Amino acid sequence: MSLWLSGIGISRGVAIGPVHRMHGADIDIPEYRIGADAVDDEIARFTQAAIDARAQLASVREQIPANAPAEIGAFIETHLLMMDDTALIDTVAARIREDRCNAEWALKLQSEDLIDVFDQMDDSYLRTRRDDIVHVTARLQRVLLKQEHPVRAGGDPATDTHAPVIVADELAPADIILLHQQGVAGLVTEHGGPLSHTAILARSLRIPALVGVRAVRRILSDDETVIVDGEAGHLIAGPDDGALAFFRHRQAANARYQRMLAVLRDEPAVSADGVRVTMLANVELPADTDEAAQVGAEGVGLYRTEFLFMNREDSPSEEEQLAAYRQVLGTVAGPITIRTLDAGADKQIGRTTKIATNPALGLRAIRLCLKETGLFRTQLRALLRASAEGPMRIMLPMISTVGEMRQARHLIAEVAAELDAEGLPRDRDLAVGAMIEVPAAALAAPTLAHYCDFFSLGTNDLIQYTLAIDRIDDEINYLYDPLHPAVLNLIRMTIDAGRAAGISVSMCGEMASDKRYTPLLLGLGLTEFSMHPASVLEVKRAVMGADVARLRQRAGEILSLTDAGAYREALDTLGRETLA
Ligand code: PEP
Ligand code: MG
Repeated sequence: MSLWLSGIGISRGVAIGPVHRMHGADIDIPEYRIGADAVDDEIARFTQAAIDARAQLASVREQIPANAPAEIGAFIETHLLMMDDTALIDTVAARIREDRCNAEWALKLQSEDLIDVFDQMDDSYLRTRRDDIVHVTARLQRVLLKQEHPVRAGGDPATDTHAPVIVADELAPADIILLHQQGVAGLVTEHGGPLSHTAILARSLRIPALVGVRAVRRILSDDETVIVDGEAGHLIAGPDDGALAFFRHRQAANARYQRMLAVLRDEPAVSADGVRVTMLANVELPADTDEAAQVGAEGVGLYRTEFLFMNREDSPSEEEQLAAYRQVLGTVAGPITIRTLDAGADKQIGRTTKIATNPALGLRAIRLCLKETGLFRTQLRALLRASAEGPMRIMLPMISTVGEMRQARHLIAEVAAELDAEGLPRDRDLAVGAMIEVPAAALAAPTLAHYCDFFSLGTNDLIQYTLAIDRIDDEINYLYDPLHPAVLNLIRMTIDAGRAAGISVSMCGEMASDKRYTPLLLGLGLTEFSMHPASVLEVKRAVMGADVARLRQRAGEILSLTDAGAYREALDTLGRETLA
């Protein structure tokens, strides 16, 4: 009998494949005593597991595509080195001998001892090493318990019936990158939110995925076939032939739909009543730029540079960053909007400082860059140097005060003067803009506009901060509402302030990529949309079918409603009524 489980679909598409449960730090570790005569065999079993885990990682390293961010390789190298580290490996063997216990238990005790030592250190860098111990131990445990899923080479996970559906407690952005390298069909987690960076990456890599499927690791067994419906947010365990046939048909229909949209690639995004809209792409990983070019994006509205900084101990050098920025400039036509480092909160990098009580409200994004000016200057130098090679804009994340804008501009001017003194070329009219993702910035948009060449609405954070909802907390996901009147009013205020100041306003949050919101956003006056390449053609299609003049009239009426119920109802019918 089949079993339907509900979650939140975070990345559309259908995946069908065998379950592979991935256990993290909370893995259940068996404990048992062994006889004196079994000690050598147990140590041999552990040594072999370490060799196997190492071989798996080495194989993952071999499969990293040439265009993958350098930090992926660095992350794997660190873990490979740790597997050779005597503090972890030899001492486990010694424990097996002394305590006469099984290898898993000895490994658990040894890693706990190491973690305790790291926990007592008040040093952010060392704390990230603690996480590495957790990851390496979990990998070794999975191999010992034979829970590691096989590393797959090549093949299209969407059609490869052996590609696994990974079922985990939760996954970090770095896990998603590694799993993608290994060829997974789908992802299902017990925790996590639709606006987390993990979710954004899953969408970006087009892996059908669900979050918030409670107790799913206990309910499912390894190797059983499941269907992941990333659109409806369902997981179907033990599907019968009818369900399998239905969802295979859906997979084929999705592929046909994508082919149908492909004909819009070279069509300009002009609404039915002649309003020209600009379709830009969001870029997370270098591979996204090829996809952005393939869907005919007119530029990049958001290049999230923090992925260059992840999974490594050091920060990327000026030259390394320059090469990465150049690559994007060379692949996508039109202006490339590069966002300066937005680390902190759920995007931890090696040097992000202490774990704050409220990380989303802490030292994040521009705040971190203005504190760690060495880090920021290196990035600014790379950006300014790249600006000589193609149309580019610099975008500053999480701006909440005019002071931050001024300080950042001051640093940019200093770096520009340095480059001039060194005779290095740069774009002398480089546009510098702010992300509007904190309510204070939207409310102060008319003033902020004096210091900005453009605005970009980061609705993921704008909604989080306006509604006081942590975007990665699944307990309160249900409150995350892009259509909340407060959010819509802040969006409108920002667009109006940008128009009054004569600067462009785009939207690069996930709201821009959802075709259900396209009519409303057009009605609020938005004419620049930036989203993952996978959504560009679908949203373009919605733009081409819209009557913008009518939408503007209706959106004004809707925003003036005061009753919340009436408000939502009117929004629901807006798209239907006003499509030309
Ligand atoms: C946003 O907040 O909407 C945004 C685009 O930035 P990020 O999702 O990277 O925080
Ligand atoms: Mg943001």
